[in-house]
Amino acid sequence: MDPLKNYIAGQWTDADSHGALDVENPATGEILARVPLSTAAETDRALAAARDAFPRWSDTPVSGRCELLFRFAELLRANAEVLTRQITEENGKSLADSRAEVKRALENTEVACGMSVLQQGDKLIGAAAGIDGEVLRLPIGPFGMIAPFNFPLMVPFWFFPYALAAGNTYVVKPSEQVPLSVHRVSGLIHEAGFPPGVFNLVHGDRRAAERLLEHPDLRGISFVGTSRVCRIVAARCAETNKRFQALGSAKNHLVAMPDAKMDEVIRNMITSCYGCAGQRCMASSAIVGVGEATYHEVCKRFVEASRRVPVADPLDPAVADEPMVMGPVISARSKQFILEMIQAGIDEGATLALDGRELVVPGCRQGHFLGPTVFTDVQPGMKIHQTEIFGPVVVILKAESLDEAIAIINNHPYGNGASIYTQNGHYARQFKLRTAAGMIGVNVGIPAPVASLPFGGMRSSLFADTKGQGKAAIRFFTEEKIITERYWSET
Ligand code: NAD
Repeated sequence: MDPLKNYIAGQWTDADSHGALDVENPATGEILARVPLSTAAETDRALAAARDAFPRWSDTPVSGRCELLFRFAELLRANAEVLTRQITEENGKSLADSRAEVKRALENTEVACGMSVLQQGDKLIGAAAGIDGEVLRLPIGPFGMIAPFNFPLMVPFWFFPYALAAGNTYVVKPSEQVPLSVHRVSGLIHEAGFPPGVFNLVHGDRRAAERLLEHPDLRGISFVGTSRVCRIVAARCAETNKRFQALGSAKNHLVAMPDAKMDEVIRNMITSCYGCAGQRCMASSAIVGVGEATYHEVCKRFVEASRRVPVADPLDPAVADEPMVMGPVISARSKQFILEMIQAGIDEGATLALDGRELVVPGCRQGHFLGPTVFTDVQPGMKIHQTEIFGPVVVILKAESLDEAIAIINNHPYGNGASIYTQNGHYARQFKLRTAAGMIGVNVGIPAPVASLPFGGMRSSLFADTKGQGKAAIRFFTEEKIITERYWSET
């Protein structure tokens, strides 16, 4: 099998590489492709293409840039089902989840198509006597993105449509575990007719990523992945004076109040915790029951509902149309880590109320499956509570009051998302204002904002001062230049 090609300067080219890795379907173990591990010299070629394309692209009127984005959006729509299947094949999430991912990618493209309004500057007449002030929002240069495995298609769309529409050029490095969806998207970019070098694709691992971080021609980078790597990205970008935004790890909490509508709550918790086998950055993996009775009811009903979650190859025709089906985790390595975390939970004294370790999916012996796994009697600070496990493992904690539940969340290192289930406006308001998480849900288990609103967490879940999507992306991808001007009278 020949390795995938890179897309550089408008051409598909063989990569100068350190070798290639297999890309595996995590449900079946089938090898789907080989991904090249591009060298620094190959990454430099992509950056040179982006640098050379920048003057002309940034000088193209915004209407011309958006005309191509509109065409690209049409191609995305026409290829939605092909992309959906591609995501499921390489990532293992259900077709329903992949479809939602394509939809959000398209939404971001559509929001970026509004750049002629979004990029407008400000003008202050009479800043001082005879002097006016003006704020311009200008494109900056080549930007880049380093992507994670869990949303192979959608995550790059939080950034690159905005970057291109604002007049910047781009280099994307997908996750080496799931390179195929962005590979297909690059074909659609080509078909839409973007000029050579405006968008470039470089496959590879951390070596290609590190080259992006250190290269002086790259003016800014969007990173999404673990907080461990976010710290590296932040330090490197400070050294090389690049803009950066680094969206990191998560442990999202769901708080159930005594007045919550329990039937709806349990259904909602199940999709939040087990969609994408618990590998969404907005997946919940910690539940807090407030009060003795609520805690016990949640434990009992959540465990019962977890037992009924179907686990299968998501491309099996018997389940392909199911809205809630759980596929495998991404790799053998990831499964091994999750198994170690389950053992850690047992060792530190939590109760393993549901054990998914022995689950077998018939016909999928090579797949990386685990069943839903639930720990009760979990104390804040236990390893299984502190660590992002990134699999179908849920911990349930008890709090005596809403204050205690908020304290559990705020004492946790991560602050990506958090949700409360209640019908009480006072509880909801307290939760919205006092919980230290970037995205808050009220009776919504996955509070992932739509494309026109900013996306990003707080504390160790976000290393940046600008989030993704919507207006936040416009701030990131434009330089505010401030003009102070006056003209003297000719007479
Ligand atoms: P990861 O950090 O292992 O890898 C992400 C990317 O970084 C990959 O492209 C990889 O090649 C590259 N990389 C790895 N080591 C690097 C290094 N030393 N220097 C530079 N680049 C390096 O993350 P992952 O396992 O692919 O993704 C899962 C993680 O992403 C989870 O922690 C999840 O919470 C997080 N995530 C967060 C959000 C969010 O919005 N906060 C969204 C999606 C995923």
